[in-house]
Amino acid sequence: MAKVLFINPVIRESGKPAHVPYGLAQLAALAMREGHKVQVFDANAWRPSDKEIYAVLRADRWDVVATGGLVTTYGFIKKTVSIARKAAKNSLIVAGGGFITPIPHEVMGFLPEVDIGIVGEAYITLMEILKSVDAGEDDWSRVKGIIYRSPDGDLVLNRERELLEDVDSLPFPAWDIFPLDIYFQNSSLLLSEESMLAKRHIGVMASYGCPFRCKYCFHLGLSGELSTVESNGRRDVLITGRRKVRHHSPEYVVDLVRSAKKRFGIDFVSFYDENFVALCRNKDWFDEFSRRWLKSCRGIHWGATAHAAMVNENILRKLKGLGCSHLDYGLESFSDEVLLSAGKGSNSRINSRAVTMTMDAGIRPIPNQIIGFPDESFESIKADVLAWKKLGIRSNPFFATPYPGSEWYYSYKDLILKQYGGDLQLFLLSLGDAKDITCNISKNFNTVELLGLRELMVKGDLKRIEDYEETYLKTRGRTAR
Ligand code: SF4
Repeated sequence: MAKVLFINPVIRESGKPAHVPYGLAQLAALAMREGHKVQVFDANAWRPSDKEIYAVLRADRWDVVATGGLVTTYGFIKKTVSIARKAAKNSLIVAGGGFITPIPHEVMGFLPEVDIGIVGEAYITLMEILKSVDAGEDDWSRVKGIIYRSPDGDLVLNRERELLEDVDSLPFPAWDIFPLDIYFQNSSLLLSEESMLAKRHIGVMASYGCPFRCKYCFHLGLSGELSTVESNGRRDVLITGRRKVRHHSPEYVVDLVRSAKKRFGIDFVSFYDENFVALCRNKDWFDEFSRRWLKSCRGIHWGATAHAAMVNENILRKLKGLGCSHLDYGLESFSDEVLLSAGKGSNSRINSRAVTMTMDAGIRPIPNQIIGFPDESFESIKADVLAWKKLGIRSNPFFATPYPGSEWYYSYKDLILKQYGGDLQLFLLSLGDAKDITCNISKNFNTVELLGLRELMVKGDLKRIEDYEETYLKTRGRTAR
């Protein structure tokens, strides 16, 4: 059977490793279930030197070296596959995930060391690759959902891979082959009292996909709307408008958490779903989940992702009763105009209501916001500050970023290239943390202005924002409304 080394990339050099990589742990479990010999090198947990990465790659004769992640891991993956090509000359190097899925031709061009790129979901695709490796086959033309190099060096993108329908057929993640002790040292999350006290925190997924279609969302493409089209003589990825949400049965989710508690003594759970509360709107699912959770997982606190338009008092009260301590909202803005143009499916009233209801239910709302929307204006910025004051919340907005895979990426590709001297790879390398500004897509503000305005927003300094608005308008021969 194939000998596989999975490498978990460093996500953010400045951040501590707090989240066991869920997808990678699932893929490792799947590969082991198929009988392959699996090792994990968790660079995010261990933070190795280049020499150590080289030594690990030399330590065995890996048939396959597999890595991948979101685009924020691009820099580390680039370095790692380059080391891997030197250290493990005969290994098949496979890379997948959000960093390659929307722009496979570009990434394969930037990373000549990668033999096969997985485009879209990897569950079925990676197992087919490993099966071919076992059989000594290297005809990749029949494996859907990959991009590979033909014998004459051309890049070939195969047809899209269908999504795995029965997600309950997935084995539980192979958490035990990851350095959980390191992750548990960083279990405490500054999100709620309960999450701060967590000593053994783990993340799980109950659903895959989200019914919304925000223009800045980089999840698009991994969750159901990816297709491929032939144009100008080559096949390319097409992100369509289709959305597909799959979910585990309540039994699967509760058994997963119960087994994590039994095996690792976990005391806090993060639901990594794109939109966990949207799943809770499925009454049959939620009732059954609640019943099973109270029976088997009572006492375990948890946090999850939410959308303002998906919550109501009834659901929030029930979530609290199940041990929910915080809900992570992508509120993004309190300007109706901005929310509408971002395709958020919410407005300022719904956002405010969700925050108030969540606090009233005894759950801490985590209000994520963005600054630098294409239509960002003094009105929208002031609306944010006023809403925060009124609701009694604080936020340090992320900068609007046109991640590959998002609708913004396609709309603002020319602008991105202009800001990076035509070098797309430089943009990919800069995508480490959305708290940094990487590409300014705002029509009204330059980068320096956005940085300064964010500072004033965080301080709630409405007076200075208005002072600057006056100066801004004067220099343009206008006056404030
Ligand atoms: S609600 Fe969140 S996960 Fe869903 S499309 Fe919008 S940003 Fe993406």
